[in-house]
Amino acid sequence: MTKQKVSIFWFRRDLRLEDNTALYHALQSEQPVIPLFIFDTSILNSLPKNDARVGFIHESLQKINDKLNSLGSSLLIKKGTTIEVWQSLFEEFTVSAVFLNKDYEPYAIKRDLAIETLAKENCASFFSFKDQVIFEEKEITKADGLPYTIYTPYKNKWLEKYKSMAPIAEYNTENYFSNFYKNLFDFPALEAIGFEESNIKVRPHNLTQIANYHETRDFPAVDGTSYLSPHLRFGTVSIRKLVNWAVRKNDVFLSELIWREFFMQILFSFPKVVSDNFKSAYDGIQWRNDEKDFKRWCTGTTGYPMVDAGMRQLNATGYMHNRVRMVVASFLCKHLLISWQWGEAYFAEKLLDYDLSANVGNWQWAAGTGCDAAPYFRVFNPDIQLKKFDEKGIYIRQWIPEFDLGYGQPMIDHAFARDRAIAAYKAGILK
Ligand code: FAD
Repeated sequence: MTKQKVSIFWFRRDLRLEDNTALYHALQSEQPVIPLFIFDTSILNSLPKNDARVGFIHESLQKINDKLNSLGSSLLIKKGTTIEVWQSLFEEFTVSAVFLNKDYEPYAIKRDLAIETLAKENCASFFSFKDQVIFEEKEITKADGLPYTIYTPYKNKWLEKYKSMAPIAEYNTENYFSNFYKNLFDFPALEAIGFEESNIKVRPHNLTQIANYHETRDFPAVDGTSYLSPHLRFGTVSIRKLVNWAVRKNDVFLSELIWREFFMQILFSFPKVVSDNFKSAYDGIQWRNDEKDFKRWCTGTTGYPMVDAGMRQLNATGYMHNRVRMVVASFLCKHLLISWQWGEAYFAEKLLDYDLSANVGNWQWAAGTGCDAAPYFRVFNPDIQLKKFDEKGIYIRQWIPEFDLGYGQPMIDHAFARDRAIAAYKAGILK
């Protein structure tokens, strides 16, 4: 039997049909396009069966598949290690070209390189595109070509470049939908992939408040932010459409989207930040890393309402407001002297929007070990943060219903913890 000649487009963190760069190019190739998703066992095997992110991926794929079905096509869903799956695809089809959008995480770069090599061995072309950011890799650099490590000049250059091109062109994939491969592959249930539904769900994003974002974004009791983060993480929203819209709405909101790209380019240029301090001068800090203290932080039982409310929100919903993330992260690293890697790993397990570059970037920011980080002697006072940002206690009562019955003692005195943290940092920072 002659094998079908096809192009394959591989979905990863770009789970949408519209304005999808690599898909747009794939659909213009000569061969019909099979849209593929791989449930990658080297990632999935370490996740709990009810991981809400897998549920969200499955739900997003279902939506894509429904649309494809209406076009007489469907998603090809596979499970396994990516190399094994691709080996089997090269056996099953005559693949003339592989199309994908780039992913800048170290694991993904290595994975994609292996697939590129395999594609070449199988005489298939390999095309990768920028899609999840406006500017990637080394597109925004200092005059000497080196990466920026300070946010504000990066942002200025980013804005200058964006404005010289605005609006960024979007990709009309829908004009080429007739080129999908016509076949109805089976769409597996979540259980067939080895997972089950979680009671934690990704909430829809909300852009109705963005005009007032600069005034409301710091108050966790107010629905003042966009809830876009999991959607940007999994690409159910296009960054081009979003930025072209945001630039006319709110500068502060736009600058948060630029923080996202800043941390992505930091990860790309300095992959060591995944596990090591960006500032190696901080390597000498003696962390206490006390397991019992860590448990109290994880379970939201530190006795500091702002910290506990945040951790309980995270545990219950997979989300935590940004202001509160800063408070809990500072508390872990500074009050408890627990290294940022522990907090980063806990967030990675729980956050629906977990993204390596943003998580590592922000944790190192809070710990003071990152690029353009909070100075080591800045130790947030969780009670002052509470007064400033949740004065009426609306947010904390939402997560600590027992609050009015007399809340427990703080596990550590703030003034003592502050002095201890500053002393430990001073002693540990290599001159
Ligand atoms: P909005 O305030 O509406 O912001 C819009 C978008 O801008 C966000 O969706 C996000 O993509 C981006 N953004 C906003 N703030 C930041 C920031 N500080 N750094 C990078 N991008 C930003 N964000 C993640 O997406 N994934 C993470 O794993 C993550 N870990 C974090 C860990 C810590 C310790 C801290 C302090 C922050 C972390 N953030 C992370 C950043 C931020 O808290 C979330 O992006 C934000 O709370 C998501 O809510 P939102 O979509 O309503 O954000």
